[in-house]
Amino acid sequence: MVSNDTKIGNHTIDPATLMMGYGFDPHLSEGSLKPPIFHTSTFVFEKAADGKHFFEGITGKRPGGAGGLVYSRFNNPNQEILEDRLALWENAEDALVFSSGMTAISVLLLSMARPGDVILMSGPLYAATESIIMKILPQFGIHYVDFPASATREEIEAKMDDAKALADDKGGKVALIYLESPGNPTNALVDVEAVDAARKAKLPDAPIAIDNTFLGPVFAKPQDQGADLSIYSLTKYAGGHSDLIAGGITGKKALIDKIIPMRNTLGGICDANTAWMLLRSLETLELRMTRAADNARAVCDFLKDHPKVERLGYLGHLPEGSRQKDIYDRHCSGAGSTFSLYVKGGEAEAFRFLDALKLAKLAVSLGGTETLASAPAAMTHLSVPEERRQQLDIQDNLVRVSIGIEKPDDLIADFANALDAV
Ligand SMILES: *Cc1c(COP(=O)(O)O)cnc(C)c1O
Repeated sequence: MVSNDTKIGNHTIDPATLMMGYGFDPHLSEGSLKPPIFHTSTFVFEKAADGKHFFEGITGKRPGGAGGLVYSRFNNPNQEILEDRLALWENAEDALVFSSGMTAISVLLLSMARPGDVILMSGPLYAATESIIMKILPQFGIHYVDFPASATREEIEAKMDDAKALADDKGGKVALIYLESPGNPTNALVDVEAVDAARKAKLPDAPIAIDNTFLGPVFAKPQDQGADLSIYSLTKYAGGHSDLIAGGITGKKALIDKIIPMRNTLGGICDANTAWMLLRSLETLELRMTRAADNARAVCDFLKDHPKVERLGYLGHLPEGSRQKDIYDRHCSGAGSTFSLYVKGGEAEAFRFLDALKLAKLAVSLGGTETLASAPAAMTHLSVPEERRQQLDIQDNLVRVSIGIEKPDDLIADFANALDAV
């Protein structure tokens, strides 16, 4: 039988447990404990009428989805099991997987916005997401209004009025509220509850999507705070081994149903092999994220008062009584393992620190089993104009760290040694 029970009697099974078998029936695959990789581009129909029925679902002539396997740009068992498991983490109605986080974001935006429409966004966003919304979509007549990640409900409502006025002027609508929290690379948290309350008052028809790559799905579940869709770069914590590129969207079925035809047509579903690797990765997701978060706390406790450290941007050290701490307490169940380290000095000191690390690898990306460190101002955010870099606090002495699952004492020794070299 397909193990898709989420309860034992009255007991609700945790998603972490369900990752081991949910949605896969071994007896459809020769008793194989693990899902085989379905390396096939297309699927054989038993009857012509079945093919017609499935295509009615694929093309939207009949609601409810394909209803069967058709062609691997639309669906494939590995992707379907992965989507079913991904949805469990936030108790979402449905999920979709993509060939990268950016594919997920691009297909989402193209599904929601039409010329004349406005996207209301929090800032900062992942640099490539900012490029799509601020540089590419305007070429197609799609506009944007942005507000700082740390905005209050009143500030957000004022920006919603601006977005509505712009949409009226351009003959469109506010198509989407697009958030990212914590923001990359500053870790500024967005008050999703406040955005949802403001949306209900000002823009009741605008869906809220949020990039939940940094803390989700283990430490942040923004759909509990009013978001309609969560976006993931599965390349990061979900994949977790720095060996694949993929993306995902989970959330309300009515919205997912609007995205499916765009993904089916443009392409961009994740391939079967990558989906299989992600199924393996999800089995250890909570274990990895919890261990990495414990490590990050140990490392940050060590760095906090180090004489060569100017300051840290770490969610586990937010000042009591601050607005960000209040958002953290309402939205997050852990501080994660990606943080900002401002080395005393400038680019030269940051580079000396990076070059002296022995265990931590000098690479962009995050969420892998190994610790990574990079300099955003000189690397991932080099394309961001200087003035906006200042606004976002992306200084030359900023080192971005993603802590892995090594032994914490080894990481502390590595960081101590590298700081001595500065
Ligand atoms: C990496 C990342 C992306 C893009 O994902 P890819 O899988 O590299 O396409 C989007 N958002 C955030 C927050 C990311 O860290």
